[in-house]
Amino acid sequence: MVKFDDNLSNTKIADLHSHEEERVIQTMAPQLGFEYVNLRNITIDPEAVSAIPEQKAREAEIIGFALNRHTLSVAVKNPNNPKTQAVFQELQRQRYELTIFICSTRSLEHAWARYKDINESQAEKKGVFEISTEDINRLSKEIKSRENIMTILQSISKMSNTRRISETLELIFAGGLALGASDIHIEPEQNAVRLRYRFDGVLHDVADLDSYIYKRMMSRLKLLSGMILNSRAEAQDGRFTFNTGEREVEVRSSVIPGAVGESIVMRLLDPTVASFSMDKIKLNPYIRKVMEVQLKKPNGLIITTGPTGSGKTTALYAFLQEAHSEGVKIITLENPVEYKLDGIVQTQIGEDYTFASGLRAILRQDPDIIMVGEIRDKEVAETAIHAAQTGHLVFSTLHTNSAVAGFVRLIDLGVDPRIMGSSINIIIGQRLVRKLCEVCKAKYKATEEEVKLVKHIMSHHPHPVTVPEPTNLFKSVGCEACGGTGFKGRMGIFEGVVMDEKVEEVVIRDPREHIILESARPQGIPTMVEDGIEKVLEGTISISELGRVIELPYQEANVSLDSINIKTPTSKKAGDGDFLSHVV
Ligand SMILES: [Zn+2]
Repeated sequence: MVKFDDNLSNTKIADLHSHEEERVIQTMAPQLGFEYVNLRNITIDPEAVSAIPEQKAREAEIIGFALNRHTLSVAVKNPNNPKTQAVFQELQRQRYELTIFICSTRSLEHAWARYKDINESQAEKKGVFEISTEDINRLSKEIKSRENIMTILQSISKMSNTRRISETLELIFAGGLALGASDIHIEPEQNAVRLRYRFDGVLHDVADLDSYIYKRMMSRLKLLSGMILNSRAEAQDGRFTFNTGEREVEVRSSVIPGAVGESIVMRLLDPTVASFSMDKIKLNPYIRKVMEVQLKKPNGLIITTGPTGSGKTTALYAFLQEAHSEGVKIITLENPVEYKLDGIVQTQIGEDYTFASGLRAILRQDPDIIMVGEIRDKEVAETAIHAAQTGHLVFSTLHTNSAVAGFVRLIDLGVDPRIMGSSINIIIGQRLVRKLCEVCKAKYKATEEEVKLVKHIMSHHPHPVTVPEPTNLFKSVGCEACGGTGFKGRMGIFEGVVMDEKVEEVVIRDPREHIILESARPQGIPTMVEDGIEKVLEGTISISELGRVIELPYQEANVSLDSINIKTPTSKKAGDGDFLSHVV
């Protein structure tokens, strides 16, 4: 005997009932002058659904289901219902053109269910754009080292998946801020996804992320940055900002496709890091005195040189700030503009606005001071020189290893050396070196070879410092305060060659680097190596760090490299590219 199933029977009756309703409405609709729609058989457009808030839709028994520009198709149970009519009027006030259909209760219920998905995806979207200010603030105070980040990451891994994504993102940004990172790198590799920070100019491994988090985080970061989500084959750039409560941090993000997956690099443009002043860049007193004179000149070319990441732009910004005063019009031409400077007109190069064409356009704006991001070719070089000769103070950079090499580069670019004397004011050379952490740095007795090297360099210094006997130097150790790296913060080492009669003469007659340097020695400005060695003797930096960023005169000092355990200057890392070139 078949058991009578009450539930089943009720469902069947309900089915019959709704079929009947569907049929009745289908017949009735044309008589009322409306079209009939069965929402269960069509695709419902979530944007059309979102046109009416859920509660209102349910109360007024209405649903939006198709949207074509301003034409919104709505389905209603009863077009004469006053509540429904009120919604019509409201939609019309919002400039929707309405096409009204009649549908069954079952259709409405089917369509109303769509609100759930929409609300969820909106919550997701909202989550993306909201990085919790409180969490970032709290975390960045809690984090003291890379180890802290690992520990917090482990506790996050025990959370539910949705929370894990936001918490991991917040941790990554808070950690970056706490450790003073300039860039955050997320790089998928064969077996893990690596999180690295660049701070003090060097990339440091921070933690490994799992691939579940990585994939979802990439989507969020791309959404945040305004990038296309589904494109995984092309490089994309974007930007977004988040708030820490105390300040707004701008993030410039760049995604590149890779063999294992997309990598993202996010540069943190933290306005508190980026304040530019002559005091901040800590020029040695000799070059500072020279610069103060140079910055008061009404015209001429001031060039800073150095490889990628040597702080050229930072120095130029500091010079611009110093030269800036009321009544002076300053226009910059940059690639791209990374920091806004008060009172200065900053422009950014683009497709039709190159360094050369931009510079010509700027000159028509009657500026007093111009900054051109970089001199890359003859055209820019000549335009800059022409501007310098026609009453403008012009700042720019060259990608060379030393100040003297700047003169040689300009000649290589095709600049006539005979016009350099009347247009160039000074060429500066610089590097950024990591300062030893004051908390953990360790004093040690310098080896014989180190002393030999230090003495050799000091013997050429225009204002030599006596090398004490025995010589004590400092080396890096690593502690909690410096995140275990042994370094905290960076400083510049500088050199400069002022254009004077002697320099002008050799630039025309015999422009070789060592000859130009020799002719400039009477100016009394130490070279970068000499400036750096002074800082080594002061205990601010280590000799090996100096050797990392600049070539020391081992051969001339008759010192073997191995005996001091100094790493030679590291070449630029592949893939770092220009994106990482600006280091504050
Ligand atoms: Zn330390």
